[in-house]
Amino acid sequence: MLEEIYGHVLRRNAGEREFHQAVREVLESLPVVLERRPELCQASLVERLVEPERQLMFRVPWTDDDGHVHVNRGFRVEFNSALGPYKGGLRFHPSVNLDIVKFLGFEQTFKNALTGMPIGGGKGGSDFDPKGRSDDEVMRFCQSFMTELYRHLGEHTDVPAGDTGVGAREIGYLFGQYRRITNRYEAGVLTGKGIGWGGSHARPEATGYGLVAFTAEMLRTRGEELDGMRVVVSGSGNVAIHAAEKAEQLGATVVACSDSGGCVLDEKGLDLDLLKQVKLVDRERLDVYAERRGSAATYRADGRVWDIPCDVALPSATQNELDEDAARTLIGNGVRVVAEGANMPTTPEAVRALREAGVLFAPGKAANAGGVATSALEMQQNASRVTWSFETTEDRLSEIMRHIHDTCYETADRYGRPGDYVAGANIAGFELVGDAMLAQGVI
Ligand code: NDP
Repeated sequence: MLEEIYGHVLRRNAGEREFHQAVREVLESLPVVLERRPELCQASLVERLVEPERQLMFRVPWTDDDGHVHVNRGFRVEFNSALGPYKGGLRFHPSVNLDIVKFLGFEQTFKNALTGMPIGGGKGGSDFDPKGRSDDEVMRFCQSFMTELYRHLGEHTDVPAGDTGVGAREIGYLFGQYRRITNRYEAGVLTGKGIGWGGSHARPEATGYGLVAFTAEMLRTRGEELDGMRVVVSGSGNVAIHAAEKAEQLGATVVACSDSGGCVLDEKGLDLDLLKQVKLVDRERLDVYAERRGSAATYRADGRVWDIPCDVALPSATQNELDEDAARTLIGNGVRVVAEGANMPTTPEAVRALREAGVLFAPGKAANAGGVATSALEMQQNASRVTWSFETTEDRLSEIMRHIHDTCYETADRYGRPGDYVAGANIAGFELVGDAMLAQGVI
């Protein structure tokens, strides 16, 4: 039955490779659960689960500083609302298309379920590239984007957040335009807002911090800890930098990171203040980091970050960035844990190689769920009009990450796949969403 459903997905979503990959990975985990719980096959539940509830595509015209008009494409895929309002980030990057947004929305549905919070799954974005654009251009783009998207949003309907290319600046412009059009101060309609106008402490840090908390839990199952370990992250954006920061706080040394131009090796440990300044404030490339850091760091243009030996690898840049060849290099260099900060950064072949070699492997839908979980905490704070301290919010985040870890670990065990976090996450997410869909009838 699952093969048939997958064939249907391939035909119906022709050419959408990332979406196929994400669906296949989940379906491969399901035979064991459908055998034990045949009621989850009823009423075409799996067929409904792989079909988004709604897919929106729209034109986003905007004018650059020289007066030229550009036309981008906007997307929002509202994938599944069985557990709550659609929730998931917006990505602004030239690679964004319907395929990418669907794969991300599908993953998000299971990830959000695993957090145990009342949020459904969605994702959106545009093929607009904010890189090299002035603040005014980014603002005009965001205003045009929101002028179409606002009618589909609402704190009980659909609540976007940031993702690649969408940080505090973009969320600010998007929220401003939403408020202007609707004449409502509906703080709970977007998350990732600034502190002082509805944002939550620890939201920028949450995905990276949560990733490291999950990694520490995995190590604990083997009686090990992060203290003293050598860590490599890929990317140098929001997720990568905050993962590096938390790993350092726990006593690890983060020796390398990357961006789309190359990677930097810094044997004594990355200078995170400098890295934040270069990547998040100056929006420069990593060669600038190496230049300013002096002899401590070496920059490798187009170099592969996975060639650098480490105990812990945290792919936190983009999808399918860690292939089988890279996985074999990591294994050869003695890696103990690979935990995904990005969404689906590890190819299926690489996952197989890592699992076969006995490396602990955490899929993004579990390991990077701290961001969306803290977004849900931001919604809670907005609803009750309070602001929690950084410490309170981080404590809640750590609790949630422990819960996600234990859910995946115990589910994998219960279904005869001990230590298999991929199976654990897929099965637990499927049961949570599937049970709710069954109870709510054929919709
Ligand atoms: P950012 O835009 O802040 O950073 C992305 C980083 O990845 C940048 O350093 C970018 O380099 C780098 N990068 C992009 N493509 C490549 C590539 N092909 N090779 C090497 N480096 C690359 O995004 P985020 O940190 O927010 O997101 C990263 C990943 O984490 C995405 O998959 C996202 O979906 C996922 N994620 C993010 C969450 C969040 O809360 N932000 C939550 C859960 C998942 P450059 O600077 O050159 O562009």
